[in-house]
Amino acid sequence: MGKFLGAVALVVVVLLGISLWRASDLPSPYLDVPEVEAPNYDTAAIAQHLSQSVQMRTISWSPTADTEGDAFLAFHGWLAETYPNAHSALSRETVNDYSLLYRWEGKDASKAPVGFLGHMDVVPIEPGTEGTWTHPPFDGVIADGFVWGRGSLDDKSTVVLVMEAVERLAAEGFQPEQDIYLAFGHDEEIGGQRGAVKIAELLASRGVQFDWILDEGLTILEGFLDFIDGPMAVVGLAEKGFLTLELVARDSGGHSSTPRADTAVSKLARAVERVQSNPFPIEIDEADAANLRAIAGEMPFMQRVAAANLWLFGPLVKSSLSEPAYSAAQYRTTTAATVFNGGSKENILPQEARALINFRIHPRNTIEEIVARTKQLVGGDIEVSIYAKPNNPPAPSDINGAAYGLITASLGDAFGPIAAAPSLVVGATDSRFYAGVTKETFRFPPIVMSLEQFSGFHGTNERVAVDSLGRSVAFYERMIRRASGSETLQ
Ligand SMILES: [Zn+2]
Repeated sequence: MGKFLGAVALVVVVLLGISLWRASDLPSPYLDVPEVEAPNYDTAAIAQHLSQSVQMRTISWSPTADTEGDAFLAFHGWLAETYPNAHSALSRETVNDYSLLYRWEGKDASKAPVGFLGHMDVVPIEPGTEGTWTHPPFDGVIADGFVWGRGSLDDKSTVVLVMEAVERLAAEGFQPEQDIYLAFGHDEEIGGQRGAVKIAELLASRGVQFDWILDEGLTILEGFLDFIDGPMAVVGLAEKGFLTLELVARDSGGHSSTPRADTAVSKLARAVERVQSNPFPIEIDEADAANLRAIAGEMPFMQRVAAANLWLFGPLVKSSLSEPAYSAAQYRTTTAATVFNGGSKENILPQEARALINFRIHPRNTIEEIVARTKQLVGGDIEVSIYAKPNNPPAPSDINGAAYGLITASLGDAFGPIAAAPSLVVGATDSRFYAGVTKETFRFPPIVMSLEQFSGFHGTNERVAVDSLGRSVAFYERMIRRASGSETLQ
């Protein structure tokens, strides 16, 4: 017995030793570069441009509504007027009437092109909330150090900041090594079928194959993690897929005075409950572990030891990730019963009931897998079919690849030694439609914001801080220069 306890103690000591050693060998999330002064750019002028862009009401109402073309055409005209050097250096074409595709011809046609994506449309203001805005949502007011209004973050900031960078470079006569495309869709907020889908089809028909594309996504967040000092750049290397399943239950009808054991409604209720109460488990796969590892070096001691030793503490870490909902959504395919319809009158036995369940698919899962799992959970009596157009999650980009290195290097150039880490975007972006025409995809607009501002996406008081806009433009400029192999700071 003594020998046994001794052996157990030895194993514990060895495990502890390995754990501590691994925990001390984690990379720092802070970029290893010196402090950088904000560039001497005219941020008031950049803010003015963003303000003007907000004032054009390029609203996407619904997938079945017509595009409000005049607002988009006004936006196109405004871009040409505001960025004259960019418009003489790049060619521009409209795609499906209202989306824009720019091409900046590179010096070396044999090099794979790269692309910057954004969208010009915005979501409407939720009826009844107009009066709760500090400044009217489409006035583009600049006050208290912010540009206020719908689209100031999502996603006119991306379009404007990319154009500012291109304008600066074009004005000095810069020409990139490889072709650079700018692709601005006009219906991202209602699914991208009229804009991004058409642009990607056009590029595919021309045989364009990007080395990488950069789209909207996560941003530079202040106060995102309590163990990180200062703002943290969160770069989306992957995004979730999308699937809605329709469940249909049927039963013979009749009068409610003589019911059988079940109705279509009660059958459906049980089926929905089975799906909702059997969520996909939280897992930490290789990509998730790499994302955790990127920030683990700054975690408090116990968390750091656990994150560095998932082989030992995996179950513990998984259970700690199940709350809050945002963190759980990073590590599993989510399940949300969103619509439930059945029955028409209190005394009629319903013959049919329908429900919709929305899944956001983690990159490790597939549509086929979810359909099969759902069918198994609800049993043969319930019909399960795919509702609307689903998409599998695109393949994640490489955390060790050259393109991610280009992003972090450009971040260091523009923002200095801030923290940067990769992540999974739980929403969907236009970039998913480009999966067939690009090697890698990154989702990251370089905009500094507080967590409260981050919640302004699609919400009230959407706004962007003026003081870091110069750094944001510098980031895009550095990306373009570095992609061309020009690494000297200018
Ligand atoms: Zn957006």
